Amino acid sequence: MSTVTSPRTKPSPVQAMSDIRIYNTLSKTKEPFVPLRPPAVGIYLCGPTVYAEAHIGHMVGPVIFDTIKRYLTYCGYHVTWVVNITDVDDKLIAKSHQRGVPMSQIAVEMTADYLANLKELGVNQIDYMPRATDHMSQIISFIESLEKRGYAYASQGDVFFEVAKDPSYGELSNRTTDQQQGEGGEAAARKRSPSDFALWKSAKPGEPAWDSPWGRGRPGWHIECSAMSHHLLGETFDIHGGGLDLMFPHHENERAQSSCCHNAPMVKYWMHNGLMRAGSKGKVGGKGDRESSAESVAELAESKISRSKGGGGLAELIRKQTGERLRFFLLRTHYRSTIIFNDETLSEAGTSLEAFYRLLARFQEITGQSFYDLPVPQTADAALQRIQDANSETLKPFLAERERFLASMSDDFNTGAAISVLFDMLRGLNRHIDQHALGKEAGPSDPGLTTLIDAVAILRELTGILGLFLKAPPQAIGSDDAGESALPHALMEILMDLRKTARANKDFATSDAIRDRLSSLGIALLDKKDGTTWERTK
Ligand SMILES: [Zn+2]
Repeated sequence: MSTVTSPRTKPSPVQAMSDIRIYNTLSKTKEPFVPLRPPAVGIYLCGPTVYAEAHIGHMVGPVIFDTIKRYLTYCGYHVTWVVNITDVDDKLIAKSHQRGVPMSQIAVEMTADYLANLKELGVNQIDYMPRATDHMSQIISFIESLEKRGYAYASQGDVFFEVAKDPSYGELSNRTTDQQQGEGGEAAARKRSPSDFALWKSAKPGEPAWDSPWGRGRPGWHIECSAMSHHLLGETFDIHGGGLDLMFPHHENERAQSSCCHNAPMVKYWMHNGLMRAGSKGKVGGKGDRESSAESVAELAESKISRSKGGGGLAELIRKQTGERLRFFLLRTHYRSTIIFNDETLSEAGTSLEAFYRLLARFQEITGQSFYDLPVPQTADAALQRIQDANSETLKPFLAERERFLASMSDDFNTGAAISVLFDMLRGLNRHIDQHALGKEAGPSDPGLTTLIDAVAILRELTGILGLFLKAPPQAIGSDDAGESALPHALMEILMDLRKTARANKDFATSDAIRDRLSSLGIALLDKKDGTTWERTK
């Protein structure tokens, strides 16, 4: 291996710390990322209202922000990421009455479901998950400050935020006063204006309630996020995230509450992820799929995956698809785009993922080393040290791909473009193995082998940023405890390859036997234009 490092082959240091740009919903432009207190970065993501099982749509924000935190950490930042749990809310109360169990029990059950799903999708970067009911004192004192400063008024046990007092109200969601819709219903009579929204709601009989200066009651939804983000991240913090459907009224109201309470901006960068929709419209993901579609929020909200539309059963979906496949599926699309969720797009993601599994198996066969045992550099600095030691002429194309990957991530966290670079690497690695005829017999002095190992180390570094291929897929076949997520893709690939060869040789007896015997095990083979996929039928 060459130890000469020409200026051209020497990788430039990741300039990500100064080069990251983020699309800020408030300014409607991509802005350079300059944190308030570097290297510290504070991120708040609106979490779930825990009244029912999570569905796949609930995983979009967590997977995106888990990846964003991994990338910012890689770039040298010290990120604190908060995701709140709304455990008191109208829907929870209704569910509690319906099931005849305490609200707190439903919240505990559904929080456990949410956490289990996050774990399956590899979301493990969250630092704090504050629950609203644990922060009543902070919520109440926040409302008291707003009242003292003249932004809030009490009315028959309720407390409302007076929207007219905040001249910047509507700037985030781009709404004029005329477009601001107030909460109607029976609270309307107690408000000064229909646009005003509840900070505190007086208790009705049979509802959970807390003592407050305004009598017993419970907080409104919006104030929870203002109080808990302030408590954990301070008056002004770097990034606030959430789905597009939360921009109004939830984020507009959070912003009004916090900025009026502290006389300071709440957040420097507002980030909104696109929603997921079920259906067959268009193909999602792939190269350059970066800009949000032009569909209106209202249209998306209507068709987005939601519990009421039967999009549930996430645990079942994970069991069938594996958490890694779902994470890969979500990251193929840029976070501001709409994600189309259907069998076809899921299957495409699965086929793509299997190509990576095949390469990783190939690597192990040649080197005797498992990809999953390779170290994952946690920062760009750590990675650079290794690459500088390993630099060679043949590694150049892979280093160039590494630069492209990092540039994509720095460009508003474009995971879709970053994944398309990974495909280029995948093709390059397979080509490299073929050209050098690398096999088990490759010796340690074989330059082709050295380049392979160095290039795969780069793949390990980059896939680690996306939280992919961190650990080997479970090995057991359909074992009860491991569930169907344990199905060995590699074995299925071998069988499908054998069948393809048999068919090419017109040996239909063998190809039919493979299909029939798999079918008797509850596995169906699906022949499509671009290849064969498989799925379990029982
Ligand atoms: Zn929120």
